[in-house]
Amino acid sequence: MKQKKTPVRAALLALVLLTVAALAVLNLTRQSAPEQPDASAVPERLSAMAEESARAVSEPERDPADTADPEGADASASTGQAAGSAGASISDLAPEGDPYPGLYTRYEEKTDDNTQKIVYLTFDDGPSENTDRILEILKQYDVKAAFFVSGQYGTTEERARRMRDILDQGHTLGLHTYSHSYEKIYASMDAYLADLNKINEEVVAATGYHASLIRFPGGSRNQHNEHICEELTAEVTRRGYTYHDWAVSCGDAEGKNLSAAQEMRETADACEKRAKSVVLFHDTPSQNATVEALGGLIEELRNQGYEFRALDNSIRPFQFVKQE
Ligand SMILES: [Zn+2]
Repeated sequence: MKQKKTPVRAALLALVLLTVAALAVLNLTRQSAPEQPDASAVPERLSAMAEESARAVSEPERDPADTADPEGADASASTGQAAGSAGASISDLAPEGDPYPGLYTRYEEKTDDNTQKIVYLTFDDGPSENTDRILEILKQYDVKAAFFVSGQYGTTEERARRMRDILDQGHTLGLHTYSHSYEKIYASMDAYLADLNKINEEVVAATGYHASLIRFPGGSRNQHNEHICEELTAEVTRRGYTYHDWAVSCGDAEGKNLSAAQEMRETADACEKRAKSVVLFHDTPSQNATVEALGGLIEELRNQGYEFRALDNSIRPFQFVKQE
């Protein structure tokens, strides 16, 4: 080594090393993560957007005058039924010639109180047999949650029974898409609407209930829908729906294979950094760790002073693609 380092070169090298270390630390502290195993491919700026949105949830910039009466929020949060619209007049909302006239709902103003410590548990991709176990645990702890349903597991009859259970037990039922196939649903606007319409029709047939909350598979902006996410989010909003993303992903679908104890610890730690968190779980047949972690998580967060509520139409949504 006949290297002759000048002080300037040494300083530059140190600067580069420091920058690399800082970036690594930043990366480790990121909380928000898309729900799919290939999420590592999500561009950096998406994570940054998710973080920015997460801050917006925990540090709301809102006029105190418009932070609504908590009583009203409580009342609507206590029943999943409040998160949808009555069926009779839905078709009146559709313009002539709309191919999906049943895919409309009445938009409601958001009146949630942003001053409390609240955790909103959400379960995607079911219903499945694990939905039954999760409903039992939620009942045991008297906690309400939101379920964004798909048509992926079980028979039509089994899904119908579980959808009715979700609503009968006071939880919120939202739409996730029928097939959950990224290639299919994000191929075009119409492909997405047709798939969403299919799960909406199944929910209506099973329960008579018209959902008004949506969760996009992979979140409102992800590597599969980036080319059309602005159009998709604007279109479902035009139809009256409110879509909710998440601030905390417990990592259950990121291929981490966390134990129940690890999943509980990571999720609790992430929630405890914020006043409010929307937490993403999956009530799929393979998510046994989530089922096993759930009771302990509820106890831990209650001990820290958090309340649990179901997302509903009064809740200001946490969104990766924001609607103004
Ligand atoms: Zn999903």
